Amino acid sequence: MPAPDYTRSRAYRAAACAHLPFGVSSTPRGRQTPVPVVIEDAQGVHLTDLDGNRYIDFTLGYGPLLLGHTPDCVQAAVSREMARGLRTATVHRGEAALADLLADCVPTAEQTAFVTTGTEAVQLALRIARAATGRLKIAKFRANYHGWIDNLHIAGAPDNDGPSTIGQDPAASADVVLFDWGDAVQMASLDSSFAAVILEPAAINPGCFAPPPGFLEAVRIATREHGIVLIFDEVITGFRLGLGGAQQRYGVLPDLTVLGKVLGGGLPIGAVAGRRDIMHDVASGRLLHRGTFNGNPLSLAAGFAAVSHLRIHAETLYPRLDAMAADLCAHVNTQAARTGIPACAQAVGSAVQLFVGTKGLTCIGDLTQVDRAATGRLTDALLQRGIYTLPRGLMYLGTPHDDADMATTRQALSEALETLRT
Ligand code: PLP
Repeated sequence: MPAPDYTRSRAYRAAACAHLPFGVSSTPRGRQTPVPVVIEDAQGVHLTDLDGNRYIDFTLGYGPLLLGHTPDCVQAAVSREMARGLRTATVHRGEAALADLLADCVPTAEQTAFVTTGTEAVQLALRIARAATGRLKIAKFRANYHGWIDNLHIAGAPDNDGPSTIGQDPAASADVVLFDWGDAVQMASLDSSFAAVILEPAAINPGCFAPPPGFLEAVRIATREHGIVLIFDEVITGFRLGLGGAQQRYGVLPDLTVLGKVLGGGLPIGAVAGRRDIMHDVASGRLLHRGTFNGNPLSLAAGFAAVSHLRIHAETLYPRLDAMAADLCAHVNTQAARTGIPACAQAVGSAVQLFVGTKGLTCIGDLTQVDRAATGRLTDALLQRGIYTLPRGLMYLGTPHDDADMATTRQALSEALETLRT
């Protein structure tokens, strides 16, 4: 097939790098090959780049845009809010409104504190846990991602426990102890020196792994036994695996929940939600919870509109998205088996991960079998065919994806897999 024309995206990048480091505002976006395409317009789940190339979007803003780029309910709510003036850093009714709605939707959200990003919410959750227990140590799981703060931006892969980037302060993670996600037996080594255990309850970042039976329960039992605060990082799984997130889906309740992404309806947000007794220090003002843009009216209005929409349509919307994701995985796995190409896909809810180099994974440790370069070649071939995914092979589905989009995507996947033979 003829290569798409990326002339204008290339020219933009060359010029942008003059004053914008790496030509982007978040490093992974600059790694798209053959060039980071510059998006000019986004409607529903359809993107158009500067050269006029069109894509079906499966990045959905790296997850937040479950309702696509132009949901009517969010656009109307943000316009209404704009008309009242920005009111940044004032007390406004949107704050309690979204906290009340969360208390209705998320099983453990008795109280919610808002911040501006998921990373900040993780930082706040750690602070709350340390204040509540008077302890310092944090248990983290290898290959789980919790944002880019120095404390937890380590062990990004199952076989590398080091920092994720140059420039990190090793002292910041000195109190972090690493465990293998999914291994219930290791939870026996937790003790009462730990302030918190933090984890992705379904490991979407490592590659869409559902928790093995008994794992979350073992974490819950051990943390309860030793008075450790259990933090579910539901920045991705919140409102994606269902209205009540992973905790509702798997029936294991944390003490604190970190939220972000979908919660903001596409605008920046982060939140820590939790039981009243653990949130006590925040509620009493003893624990500092600061931030100029915390609870900004536009994000909260967008989030309220999006979550209200999800609440009304949850019964039909989530099963439909999950079925579409399962269908996509089945297609990839069938094609791989038919052609003998070592590739596979797995999904949790409406998040799908493509892998090349392996015919299936049973645990996060198996990620060492994955051929990252070949997975990148697969997503490049998809991009050429108008399918826009995260370069590491992660795909998010959203409500505007329709049957025609999915048929086009299946066809593109078949063709892109074939390119791996050559
Ligand atoms: N936690 C998880 C599980 C995430 O996936 C992310 C971001 O992808 C974060 C935290 C950090 O959120 P943000 O990018 O909004 O800072």
